[in-house]
Amino acid sequence: SHPNTPEDRDSSIYLREFLDEMQSDKIREHLRKFTRLPHLAGTEQNLKYAVQIKTEWLAFGLDSVEMVPYDVLLSYPNETQPNYISIVDQHGTEIFNTSFAEPLPEGYEDISNIVPPYSAFSAKGQPEGDLVYVNYGRTEDFLQLEREMDINVTGKIVIVRYGKIFRGNKVKNAILAGAQGIIMFSDPADYWATGVQPYPDGWNLPGGGAQRGNVLNLNGAGDPLTPGYPAKEYTYRFKLEDAVGLPKIPVHPIGFHDAVHLLKNMGGQIPPNNWKGALNISYRIGPGFTNDFRSQKVRMNIYTNNKVSRIYNVIGRIRGALEPDRYVILGGHRDAWVFGGIDPMSGAAVVHEMVRSAGKLLSKGWRPRRTIIFASWDAEEFGLQGSTEWAEENAKLLQERAVAYINADSAIEGMYTLRVDCTPSLHTLVYDITKQIASPEEGEEGVSLYESWHKRDNWTNDRDAPRISKLGSGSDFEAYFIRLGIAAGRARYTKNKNTERYSSYPVYHSVYETFEIVEKFYDPSFKRLRVVAQVRGSLVFQLADSKILPLNLNEYANSLSKYAQSIARLAQNHMDEMRTYNVSFDSLFSAVENFTLAASGFHERLQDLNKADSLQVRAMNDQLMYLERAFIDPLGLPGRPFYRHVIFAPSSHNKYAGESFPGIYDALFDIENSPDPEKSWDEVKRQISIAAFTVHAAAMTLTRPA
Ligand code: GLU
Ligand code: CA
Ligand code: ZN
Ligand code: ZN
Repeated sequence: SHPNTPEDRDSSIYLREFLDEMQSDKIREHLRKFTRLPHLAGTEQNLKYAVQIKTEWLAFGLDSVEMVPYDVLLSYPNETQPNYISIVDQHGTEIFNTSFAEPLPEGYEDISNIVPPYSAFSAKGQPEGDLVYVNYGRTEDFLQLEREMDINVTGKIVIVRYGKIFRGNKVKNAILAGAQGIIMFSDPADYWATGVQPYPDGWNLPGGGAQRGNVLNLNGAGDPLTPGYPAKEYTYRFKLEDAVGLPKIPVHPIGFHDAVHLLKNMGGQIPPNNWKGALNISYRIGPGFTNDFRSQKVRMNIYTNNKVSRIYNVIGRIRGALEPDRYVILGGHRDAWVFGGIDPMSGAAVVHEMVRSAGKLLSKGWRPRRTIIFASWDAEEFGLQGSTEWAEENAKLLQERAVAYINADSAIEGMYTLRVDCTPSLHTLVYDITKQIASPEEGEEGVSLYESWHKRDNWTNDRDAPRISKLGSGSDFEAYFIRLGIAAGRARYTKNKNTERYSSYPVYHSVYETFEIVEKFYDPSFKRLRVVAQVRGSLVFQLADSKILPLNLNEYANSLSKYAQSIARLAQNHMDEMRTYNVSFDSLFSAVENFTLAASGFHERLQDLNKADSLQVRAMNDQLMYLERAFIDPLGLPGRPFYRHVIFAPSSHNKYAGESFPGIYDALFDIENSPDPEKSWDEVKRQISIAAFTVHAAAMTLTRPA
């Protein structure tokens, strides 16, 4: 994408100024001021930070900033009756209790309103019973437990380790298996990097630390009481019994100091090696304790309450000069479990610096071609609620006008290299911009971010370029990408997944996510956060200011072809059934072929476009913008009406992971054990035809209009 008109040249000079204006020290200051106090969604302090962000965005020079409130279902521990788990003896006496809170980090002893570790939206209750250990609580773990180890967890209390998948999926699996409660613990195998000290001497999770987090299964619904509609004052609300996604059993998180006490006397089978964590215990599966302790039971004491609470998004705008009715959105959440040192404020500090830098450009006379919307979302931690409610309220505008959504949650989760997940049509732009940004790493002066990233994470299997992954979910882009079909992407600094086995980062969602952990360990120079600001900033800038939208549909064609091959390969594990039931992927391959031709034809015509003809430019930009929309099926995926993207959805087994052709994938899952193979294969055929139709229909939108 070489500048070739005077306005393109101006635009690229402004881009340089936009990126050069972003300062490490300023990001450090923003992070410092927004991590002094806990700011859980629905609390006074999170409203105060919202007001402060609004005031500062206006001072930076945005054209408008508004606060947008919603009343949504949140969940808090009972202030007078703490949650805990006990081991009880035969008389019902509690002989061990888990801790009520995490030991506070130095300097934070006098801070109030630190919510203790809890599982948001847990059911209330005091279930008592025998423990069964089920590894990570994944679908495959429960299948192994039931089919290979022949253990039934009906009426038991399941204990699983955190990691690998979204915790809400663990809870769903435990409920489906018949458990009456579930305990999740952080095992050092997953939350302890070798050679690193626990916080505050290093960045590992102390034994008394635990991971907070919601345990919902919303499937994109947003506020559990108002699915499909914005949670305003006038809005009809479901009764609590009819709320979407609430778990029916008590759930509670603990650290590994407490976990040892629950696990150490367990009896039953020795588990396979890959079920063993790093604690000095045998990880027996149960059910219940060994003979010597057989009379002891485990009791959960959970008093957490659901509560309709007011939340606030902050929405700032820069009006587009030429196409004010085209929106590029940069959104990230503000609410945190406690201080939010990494999650989300490392991301929010980066957004703040981007807004400051954009304001500076405005004062120099710049104005983007299209409108830029900056969003500080609330209640992400409670199920992506702020972002989803705003998407619901503005769905009609967004489906007509939104060009792209860039997510801005945590900007760092490791110290190794860049990580990008995005829609395929953004691949080219991501590569282009990272070639224009300098590596933040010590000793890499003069090396581009692209080279630095490529060297550390090559996409080997597919091509010689840095790896870019599919979008999954678990952050605020979900409603925009998966429900509305808006091109989306996210970028952050990450760890080396080859050597660091732990999940997310060790102190994730604990009280130890402080400003200091970032300043001392993750990014002392704040250069990594600056580089993330530059990546997110370049994406937004180019999407908002390029005359021709920087989306490459040939990349989408490549990805579709890869995904079609991989889902067909999966089906080919069942050759005989494919023949018996007459299942074929030909229609899908043919649609992908149509798409590939339509995309390359489109980009050829785009080359020849007379860029001085603004009607022509607008017409082709609309084809680019609406391509992602064409993948939306208004009926949604089976049983998941708000997951409407036919190419991508959050995996049904792990909300964090993206699945391609999810309708076909889910229809094929475990099909060898189906009680009614004919019916199951019929559903596979239906899903293939939906995918083929959708890809073909998307291809048609790229052909010459007349
Ligand atoms: N990011 C939050 C988490 O991972 C919320 C995710 C979600 O509810 O989808 O806990
Ligand atoms: Ca709603
Ligand atoms: Zn989070
Ligand atoms: Zn977050």
